Amino acid sequence: MSRWIDLIPKPRSRFLLVKCHDCGNEQVVFGNASTVVRCNVCDGILAEPTGGRSKIKGEILDVYT
Ligand SMILES: [Zn+2]
Repeated sequence: MSRWIDLIPKPRSRFLLVKCHDCGNEQVVFGNASTVVRCNVCDGILAEPTGGRSKIKGEILDVYT
């Protein structure tokens, strides 16, 4: 009953550790976010959705796959 999992060999979902350019806050952002992700501290934009992938605006410090 869980056969659908076999049809997705490599999930593209991942998490990124992004550093905000404006205030230096480090925040974990979902790599395939469908909405704009804002910094928790200064409300600056950290990621924007672009056709299924997130465009990261800050500095990517680490990637969790
Ligand atoms: Zn910030």
